[in-house]
Amino acid sequence: MAKLTPMMQQYLSIKKEYQDTILFFRLGDFYEMFNEDAKIAARELELTLTARNKGKGDEVPMAGVPYHSSESYIAKLIEKGYRVAICEQVEDASQASGLVKREVVRVITPGTVVNNNILEEKNNNYLAAIVGSDKGYGFSLVDVSTGEFAVTQLDGAEAANKVIDELSRINPAEVLLDDKVRSSTEIMGFMRSQINPIITNIKESFGYDRAYELLIDHFDTITLEGFGCENLPLAIQAAGAVLDFLIETQKRSLKHINQLSTYATIDYMVLDANTRRNLELVKTMRDKSKKGSLLWVIDKTVTSMGGRRLRRWVEQPLLDVEEINRRLDGVEEISKNILLKEELRDLLNQVYDIERLMGKVIYGSANARDLIALKSSLEILPDVKASLAEFESSMLEELEEDLDKLADITELIESSIQDKPPTTITEGGIIKEGYDEQLDEYLDAKKNGKNWIIQLQQRERQRTGISSLKVGHNKVHGYYIEVTKANLDAVPEDYVRKQTLSNSERYITPELKEKESIILGAEEKSMELEYQLFIHIRDRIAAETDRIQKSANILAQLDALISLAEVALNNNYVRPKVNHGEVIDIKSGRHPVVEAMLDTEVFVPNDTYLDQGDERFSIITGPNMSGKSTYMRQVALITLLAQMGSFVPAEFAEIGIVDRIFTRVGASDDLTTGQSTFMVEMNEVANILNNATNKSLIILDEVGRGTSTYDGLSIAWAVIEYISDTEKIGAKSLFATHYHELTELEDRLAGIKNYNVAVQEEGEDVIFLRKIIPGGADQSYGIEVAKRAGIPKLVIDRSKEILAKLEEQEEKTIEVTTKDKQKKVKEKKVDNIDSKEKQEEDSIKAEMKIKESLANPAQMALF
Ligand code: ADP
Repeated sequence: MAKLTPMMQQYLSIKKEYQDTILFFRLGDFYEMFNEDAKIAARELELTLTARNKGKGDEVPMAGVPYHSSESYIAKLIEKGYRVAICEQVEDASQASGLVKREVVRVITPGTVVNNNILEEKNNNYLAAIVGSDKGYGFSLVDVSTGEFAVTQLDGAEAANKVIDELSRINPAEVLLDDKVRSSTEIMGFMRSQINPIITNIKESFGYDRAYELLIDHFDTITLEGFGCENLPLAIQAAGAVLDFLIETQKRSLKHINQLSTYATIDYMVLDANTRRNLELVKTMRDKSKKGSLLWVIDKTVTSMGGRRLRRWVEQPLLDVEEINRRLDGVEEISKNILLKEELRDLLNQVYDIERLMGKVIYGSANARDLIALKSSLEILPDVKASLAEFESSMLEELEEDLDKLADITELIESSIQDKPPTTITEGGIIKEGYDEQLDEYLDAKKNGKNWIIQLQQRERQRTGISSLKVGHNKVHGYYIEVTKANLDAVPEDYVRKQTLSNSERYITPELKEKESIILGAEEKSMELEYQLFIHIRDRIAAETDRIQKSANILAQLDALISLAEVALNNNYVRPKVNHGEVIDIKSGRHPVVEAMLDTEVFVPNDTYLDQGDERFSIITGPNMSGKSTYMRQVALITLLAQMGSFVPAEFAEIGIVDRIFTRVGASDDLTTGQSTFMVEMNEVANILNNATNKSLIILDEVGRGTSTYDGLSIAWAVIEYISDTEKIGAKSLFATHYHELTELEDRLAGIKNYNVAVQEEGEDVIFLRKIIPGGADQSYGIEVAKRAGIPKLVIDRSKEILAKLEEQEEKTIEVTTKDKQKKVKEKKVDNIDSKEKQEEDSIKAEMKIKESLANPAQMALF
């Protein structure tokens, strides 16, 4: 093999340090990639794969992208889940003796993006770190583009589930893990199947001491008391791991990450991953789009920051009644002051993404236009403050008090930066006249020189008598005087010929060249000075990050509150009474999303009453498609809205705080983890039985559907007994089922009430009234639904025939023997039903008379 060139040696030694990245190696105006990196880039970015030393036996695969358009290529690679290391020439090529020095100046990873091309406006882009021990987990998250940095410690029983809940809430693009976490099959399984982030290992050597040191060093404090995590060792380790990773990859100031907030998941309503998905809080289950989700209905924010804040509120409903009422007071007051609301909305409409603009300022990637965007965002602050002063509720008053008008910053930008600057910061045209004397002098010299040249044409025409004489300029020759061939006789002595064209000659004069060099000199100096001044201004703004982020934070909250007020007014919501009571009492409640999606039909409102006494558990029967799940979800969503501080779609609502909402709905095969529908369903039920308290709200839709009728009914029965038992759980629950047998439980167990969805039969047709009424239903109308779905008439008629026969059989009761296999699965999974429960279940089995299901082939043979 031929000896490597010095440059390739340099490349390989740098690449060795950045194995798991695609290394962008700067060569002049290009970033080049070699070897495997080149092959990946060629494939993913559709670049031509070439080679160094082509045909010489030691070919090195190579692909490159131009420096000036590299951003979009980098963005593409990041979106595809790669990490990109940017290696720059760190000394001036013309001054270098020998090989130019090169260094990696930044590693861009999916979790550390600050580029607008990749980031979604109203979404955060999180990097998370999780560390584990026998006691629990430390969990930290950061959004580099906005500066948000938070940490929590999750311990006790079910710590791994808490980690999963947090992961599902923030949906990180990238996760740093230690070995302990890697060995948790639960956490790893969830990540792989549900969020699929890029995963990086935390260095084994990275322990508590190093983490602590890094943190106090970064924040320049003596302890971590002020951040609330001094005594949370796992949290400190996780936050330290995040910081360490950022220092290593970003290689630059992280000044905008100026706060670490320690939060406790017990301050928020717990929503597990399934519940978040089932309730479609921020995206739909079907196509993962925002449209059709709860957030879609209530997000009327006008700024990206407000959008992200509202999203956080939806994902973290509160438990503190006082805090909830503070938000509700704010929403109520805004909704009663329509003029002020409109005024504030108009102001907020002029606000750009201050948090991310500040990210760019700190990263040194903000250009003059970004500063103008920052200025127009901050300019509204005095007016916002004035409008806010008119409110009286405590949250709005506090926002007003804390709002820094930042006049010094707006003035700085106003006095220094041109109103419509270019995007490049090295070619001048950025700084206003009057900001810097020296710059004004250069600009004057340039202007004078140019004026002199403009006047030159007039003077020389007079002097030579050539009326067609022209002064022109081009890049190669600079300024020149042009005379047509016909007038060459009149050219004076002092003209020096520079260029001959077919019809004319071009000349210069010493004086012209002298002025030209003054102009060029002034131009060059002014560009350099403008650049320096700009950097200085940007740094001054960076130094005020704390204050600016604080005001941005206030605008975000205000925007979110206004959005809730807007929705309350437009959609006719009422203020819920939120308290520590035991009751959920909703009059004429509606499903916020279904109601918004219906176009011709009117949504039929329904009441709900649940307490911790006689009416804690509703069993809802009714035909398919009659509105059972809509009703149950509506109760969950109204509760959640109330606890996030929003008005709710109802005529009246009293909500006693719930600590968790659990949902188990529908049957969806989790193909990615290779589990069967029934297994998934039982896992979810087990989670509920193990974690629910009497303060929880449980929504169960068709439990026991994924197995045989007999098994399913037995499980459903036992689950209801367990949940409704105040000794065991006693949670407020809604349970929809097509097993009519379960309605018997109303008479057998305390706290249970039957409801059904009203239907009206008109001859052959059935009309779904969507009204929830007391009592159990006794028909399932499945064939009616099949008819509506477009099943051919022949099949419908035949099923009616079969049904009739089956109903004849109903008198004869048939014991169904369950297959052993199914029994085993059940016994293994529903391990939370203790043996006493099991005995009871068995006795119920004996007692139950079950209508043979269509699923039993043996029975079908009768026909
Ligand atoms: P089920 O759970 O009983 O199968 P769904 O709750 O899925 O039924 O309701 C089926 C459809 O009926 C919904 O998609 C919605 O369009 C409509 N629907 C449900 N409840 C109502 C209601 N209260 N008012 C109007 N339409 C409703």
